[in-house]
Amino acid sequence: MKTKTPTCCNKATFASEEEARRYWERIKNLGVSRVLPTDVEQCMRGWHLVFPPSEKEEKPRKPLKRTKPKKTARPKGVPAAVKRILVRRSGGVCEVGLSCGGASEAHDPAHREGKKAGGTRAEWSNSPATLLAACRRDHRLIDGVEVSAAERLGLKVRSGVARPWEIPVKHARFGWVLLDDKGGHRPAPAGSYAEGRRPTPVVACTERELIQQDGAFAEAMDRYGHLQCPGWSAPVEGLFTCGCGSSPFVVQVVAS
Ligand SMILES: [Zn+2]
Ligand SMILES: [Zn+2]
Ligand SMILES: [Zn+2]
Repeated sequence: MKTKTPTCCNKATFASEEEARRYWERIKNLGVSRVLPTDVEQCMRGWHLVFPPSEKEEKPRKPLKRTKPKKTARPKGVPAAVKRILVRRSGGVCEVGLSCGGASEAHDPAHREGKKAGGTRAEWSNSPATLLAACRRDHRLIDGVEVSAAERLGLKVRSGVARPWEIPVKHARFGWVLLDDKGGHRPAPAGSYAEGRRPTPVVACTERELIQQDGAFAEAMDRYGHLQCPGWSAPVEGLFTCGCGSSPFVVQVVAS
C-alpha cells in the first residue's frame, strides 16, 4: 500500500513565507494566469500558496484520454476501426521510415510498446498513439534488429510509467511529434528529444493544473513516483526537475 502525502505538499514548497509571497507576486505580474493565489500557508515542510478551489477539482482530468478500458482481454489483432485511423494518418505510407525513408507502402500496424511484435496487454496497446503504420522491412527492423535505435527515435517504447502518447516519436513524415489516440499529432516540445538519446516523456497539462499542481500534473507526479518527494520548485513549462534531483518529464501546457 502506498502512503498518502498530505495533499498540501502536492504543491510547490517554499522555504520561507517571503519566498512564497515573491512567487505569488511573480504570477501576478506575469499576467498570464486567470487563477491567482488567495493566501499563503505554512506546513511542516515549508510554505505553500493557497488557491481558490477549482470547479472541476473533484474529478482530476486524465492527461490525454486513452482508449476506453475493456472488460474483456484485448482482441488479438488491431481493430478495424483503429486500422482505418492509421490509414488516414499515414496515407497508407510507412511511418517508421528507418530503411525505406517513409517511401514504402505500409503493410501492417507496428506496436511501439512491447518487446516483440504484437504489443502488450495494456488497455492502450491498440491505441493509434501506440501504433505506427509500417512497411514489412521496417516492422521487422524495429521489433528485432534495431531495437535500441528504434527506442532512441521513440519508434519503440519500453513498458513503464511513461505512456506511448507521452513519448515523442520521430515520424517518417511529421518529424518529432506526439501521437494522440484519435489519429492526430502535435509537435514534440523542444528539450523532449535529441538525436542519439531516448526521448524524454512529455506531460501535457493545462495552465491551471500546472499552477495549482493538481489534475494531470498531480497524476503524473504520482505515476512517475515523485509525489512523496520532499518538495520541488514551482513547475513551469519545460523540463521539470523534482526536489529529489531527477528530471522525469517535460511539461507542456495545453488548452483545457
Ligand atoms: Zn505541505
Ligand atoms: Zn518503411
Ligand atoms: Zn522526486
